[in-house]
Amino acid sequence: MITVTKAVSPPTEELLTMVAQIAESRFFTNNGMFVRKLEGQLSSTLNLPFVRLCSSGTMALQLAIRGLQLHGKKVFVTPFTYVATLSALLWEGCTPVFVDIDPEDLCLSPEKLRQAATAHPDAKGVLPVHIYGNACDIAAIDAIAQEFDLQVLYDASHAFGCEYNGTSLLGYGDCSVCSLHATKIFHTAEGGCIVSRSSNLNEDISLKRAFGHVDDTHHSLGINGKMSELHAAVGLANLPLYKDEIARRKVLAAQYDSLLTTSSLLCPTMRAGVTPNYAYYPLLLPTEKVLHEATTLMKAKDIYPRRYFYPSLNTLPYLPEEAKVSCPVAESSARRVLCLPLFGDMDPAYVDEISQILLRVS
Ligand SMILES: *Cc1c(COP(=O)(O)O)cnc(C)c1O
Repeated sequence: MITVTKAVSPPTEELLTMVAQIAESRFFTNNGMFVRKLEGQLSSTLNLPFVRLCSSGTMALQLAIRGLQLHGKKVFVTPFTYVATLSALLWEGCTPVFVDIDPEDLCLSPEKLRQAATAHPDAKGVLPVHIYGNACDIAAIDAIAQEFDLQVLYDASHAFGCEYNGTSLLGYGDCSVCSLHATKIFHTAEGGCIVSRSSNLNEDISLKRAFGHVDDTHHSLGINGKMSELHAAVGLANLPLYKDEIARRKVLAAQYDSLLTTSSLLCPTMRAGVTPNYAYYPLLLPTEKVLHEATTLMKAKDIYPRRYFYPSLNTLPYLPEEAKVSCPVAESSARRVLCLPLFGDMDPAYVDEISQILLRVS
């Protein structure tokens, strides 16, 4: 069976040695030495000073929303992302205002953001996503945020290992967050990280992720968003592996590229200046019918691509009425986008087989 991705697994010995150390120390959580060590390694790997780990990408988003004081506020968000981007806003009592995406790069459209910011002068923030590890139009978004006084929070969950203009794509906006879930290119089984641009925000988030108090002094409303030592150990064992994983995926992605370029199938356009991480291989099919035909043929061969991301989030049934607006580009893209199987140790013969099926139906 070939699935859309397969989790990277660290050398068992290495992981077990750390697990034994944790068990022996009897210190399983509460900002322990493994969490602090991983934060230090991430900070130096990414060359970013303020990195905080927490229990999930969703928690990272919620802590960042709180840290930026966006809870309960109106926030612009892309409808073309994993549902967790939106649910974090809803859990924090925000009113999401969907801003449609650009048809070529599938990231939040700066033109549409400008229109939305003009129409909603009471909005306080924007939550764009570097979808599939592509960079949003950061310069344009920053300029609009300055003009309309918006906080910028990037969901960089797809962007670990990506660079933009020579620096980590996790280092932009007022704050960026990244999921470290097992399906991501670097992971801690479950986990997330928050990259702040200021040390004040970094400190505030450290406090909030551990109930908001230090000893008996209670500074702010907190939550339990801590990462455990066991999860940090998975991260420490995995961290040396992600560059090699990216390199292997790059070869397979090039194979897909060379087989599919002659067809009517399109990949989203990567922004100039991005060094991608090949976390996904998204393909924009001409119609939803072609997508169904392709997935049916693949399923018959035990191959399971995924519809990332379907449906467009502005069409979810449980949205507040005022959030239900039309986003034609996101809706059309969500119907037609298929992520093809891609992981480091995937047999290249499957790339051929999958490509042949796609060429046959398109
Ligand atoms: C994976 C993902 C999340 C959720 O992260 P969890 O760690 O599973 O909570 C959020 N946003 C995007 C874009 C994701 O891909």
